[in-house]
Amino acid sequence: MSEPLLEVKDLRVRFHTEDGVVHAVDGISYSIEKGKTLGIVGESGSGKSVSSLTTLGLTRRFRASIDGQILFGGRDLVSMPEDQLRKIRGNDIAMIFQDPLSSLHPFYKVGKQLMEAVLIHRPVGRAAAHARAVELLELVGIPDPKTRVNQFPHEFSGGMRQRVMIAMALANEPKLLIADEPTTALDVTVQAQILALLQDLQQRLGMAIIIITHDLGVVAEISDDIAVMYAGRIVERADTESIFTRPQHPYTWGLLKSIPLLTSPRDEELVPIAGRPPSLINRPSGCFFHPRCPYVREEHKRVDPRLAPVPDSPGHSVACLLSPGVRTQIWQGLEAGRQPEELRHEYVEAPAVPAGAGVAAPGVAASGAGVASSGAAVTGVATTEVTTTDGADAGQEDES
Ligand code: ADP
Ligand code: MG
Repeated sequence: MSEPLLEVKDLRVRFHTEDGVVHAVDGISYSIEKGKTLGIVGESGSGKSVSSLTTLGLTRRFRASIDGQILFGGRDLVSMPEDQLRKIRGNDIAMIFQDPLSSLHPFYKVGKQLMEAVLIHRPVGRAAAHARAVELLELVGIPDPKTRVNQFPHEFSGGMRQRVMIAMALANEPKLLIADEPTTALDVTVQAQILALLQDLQQRLGMAIIIITHDLGVVAEISDDIAVMYAGRIVERADTESIFTRPQHPYTWGLLKSIPLLTSPRDEELVPIAGRPPSLINRPSGCFFHPRCPYVREEHKRVDPRLAPVPDSPGHSVACLLSPGVRTQIWQGLEAGRQPEELRHEYVEAPAVPAGAGVAAPGVAASGAGVASSGAAVTGVATTEVTTTDGADAGQEDES
């Protein structure tokens, strides 16, 4: 394993607003190696953009408190002076944003904007910059680039504009490309084309990519690793295969069940996650996900789980208070098409088993792997009776 290209260590970003302190990013750590792709996934408002904007120093201008480290080539971007960071931004690290229109100036020809992107960081003449602009449009698959380079952004379709944005980000052959919801504004067909383009460019240029999305389906094909964010924290992290085959967090299960059908191998119904993301000013007590978790226990409203390694799944970590055995059983149940209420009843509300008895509910044996460890796992956790089923009570404040 080579040393990481980017290493984020215990990053915290807080905004001081009239309503209070927004804990937008609350102690996240991740790293990405050269040429690899990391997917950062979570619902709107979970801190995905803020963490990436902070990498580029773009949250400094708000009244933000920023703690932790973001190491890039061994240098800390959090504490780096603005003039040095400016040399990295758009050069070694480039970013593409969700809405291409907000990043492309409507009054200037696409070619001129591409040339600017080149000229900021390269001491080349205008002719060379123009040639590079044409080359970049070609690179991102825009037909007839010599004509297109002289057109305005409004003359491009949504998908083509996003290609222009990608071209702009690639102007200086970045080592790291951060793509923030690059396909959200696009229809599914164009979305697939853009993802294929990113993958192809990565292979040709060897850059690392951080792709941010609310849709796990988007990152399934393209990511090596996935970090799932909830309420400013990473709640689960693993290689992509583990996230899809043995996800551990109830929130990840929810995301998996809400993947649009096109990217889902099975003919399953889309199930949105019930409830709303919590306020980041007044966060829930205990586990931040407890007000929405179908498997909440009384103690989960008090205890704040930390990211911890998942047994028998190297490089995989999760912040969940359910025991590994219970999680395995519930996920297997969900995979088999069973309903959360039923699984909750069976595995979470099950009466306390006397220590050492190893008596699991009947029917458990039918679920196959993981049975051996389940009895011990169940007894290892306090099985407090939980009466509320929706759990959508404590500590949730709407932000709006
Ligand atoms: P995501 O990209 O996951 O949708 P963001 O990272 O944009 O979420 O936002 C995380 C939280 O930080 C949200 O609650 C958002 O309202 C808040 N936030 C973002 N930027 C600012 C800012 N400049 N000032 C105050 N709060 C902010
Ligand atoms: Mg965002």
